[in-house]
Amino acid sequence: MIRILLSAALLASAASLSAQGLPTPTPAPSSPPLYLPTVPAPVAALRDRALDDHYAWDIVEGLTTEVGQRMGGTAAEARAREWAVARLTAMGFSNVRVERFALPVWTRGPESAEILAPFPQRLALTAFGNSASTSPAGITAELVGFDSIADLMAAPDAAVRGKIVFVDHAMPQTQDGSGYSFFGGPRRQGPSIASRKGALAIVVRSIGTDHHRNPHAGGQQFEAGVQPIPAAALAVPDAEQLQRILKRGKPVTMHLTLVSTVQPGESGNVIAEVPGRDRAAPILLVGGHLDSWDLGTGAIDDGAGVAITTAAAKHVMDAGRPLRTIRVVWFGSEEMGLFGGMFYKDLHGREPHHAIAESDFGADRIWKVDSKFGKDREAEARALQAALAPLGIVPGAIDKADGSDVGPMIDGGLPGVGLSQDGTHYFDIHHTPDDTLDKIDPAQLRQNVAAWTAMLAVLSGGIEPGPKQPKRR
Ligand SMILES: [Zn+2]
Repeated sequence: MIRILLSAALLASAASLSAQGLPTPTPAPSSPPLYLPTVPAPVAALRDRALDDHYAWDIVEGLTTEVGQRMGGTAAEARAREWAVARLTAMGFSNVRVERFALPVWTRGPESAEILAPFPQRLALTAFGNSASTSPAGITAELVGFDSIADLMAAPDAAVRGKIVFVDHAMPQTQDGSGYSFFGGPRRQGPSIASRKGALAIVVRSIGTDHHRNPHAGGQQFEAGVQPIPAAALAVPDAEQLQRILKRGKPVTMHLTLVSTVQPGESGNVIAEVPGRDRAAPILLVGGHLDSWDLGTGAIDDGAGVAITTAAAKHVMDAGRPLRTIRVVWFGSEEMGLFGGMFYKDLHGREPHHAIAESDFGADRIWKVDSKFGKDREAEARALQAALAPLGIVPGAIDKADGSDVGPMIDGGLPGVGLSQDGTHYFDIHHTPDDTLDKIDPAQLRQNVAAWTAMLAVLSGGIEPGPKQPKRR
């Protein structure tokens, strides 16, 4: 609302400046104009038909029920790839294939945490990806607590050496999920900082916004040259309990068992296409990631993402033949370090792509569209904003876009789209045992499918009605 009022004021003052023969200021490229272009009737019709979608629900319901959790590189993820190939083939996609790659596979073993003194009790926790393993008997040490990652960094090594470190933070719920990047420090950097200072192990408040006794898993990488140490997330209520215990000022002793293994393994990207009429035209890439954490069934992260983007491509296929090829990618092993995205970038990143986009932020409704097509394609960015506005989607930036697996390729210069989902409740569930199908609201899922379908309709170069396809799952 504020942005619209500002634009109106800018236009009014520009008009009066040009009436006086003075140079007019150029509006910033990110400000949306007051009026967006008219949406072509076939685009609007396809978008609105997709509001009745059932493909996305069928995919995420099937994947979470028939495969369940599918950690990157595991036998479960291999089963998920087989499931994906069978489903995408049955839906009528072309060139369905798996592009495989090797990776180290980290696997969780038994894990527990117990305060031995001053107030003996168990705490709920789960290891981070790439955590070092304790012995099966675990370790016992004094615990030292810090209110933030900054406090840990400022601590002298002597305060940390030989101890188990606890790091707290104050992540809030936000619509755009921005709390995750800043307040994720204890998970992403905390283990390396603690190890460099000589800590035995680290436990942090979960990078989450709920108050259930569900710890939030998540990936972290030890910096080069840093000795890996056991590293885990406490459930938020358990982190708060530990804070209260620490505030009593008595020495705290913790017994920690975090067993895990690392073995060489294989993952892969599952790829399927809707062939375009012009095989030489730069393609559209949409997708999500197939792997999940091991605690839940990966419904919102990211069964929903592969389901939404595949359903959108299927709606285009049902309508006819697009000018551009639409490539759907179900990336492998995103959670442990964007392995699938990096492999795709190495293999295909230099091929011409008209736009790339990933859905990986749950299943709640989309509220904003960003894009980054370059200066000569502003008309296309505005057409995209116009097609999405009737779904309650706010025009966002036209000079930036992001996404997990596709992020490095967008940063590297490929054109991209970002359809922002409402993240207010995403981090209540993200990477927890509660990431299950019942958390998906079918109506919001359909709004997502309609938005992605409209995006493909706008960017695909026009869909030529084809012979009616047989109705398939
Ligand atoms: Zn994800």
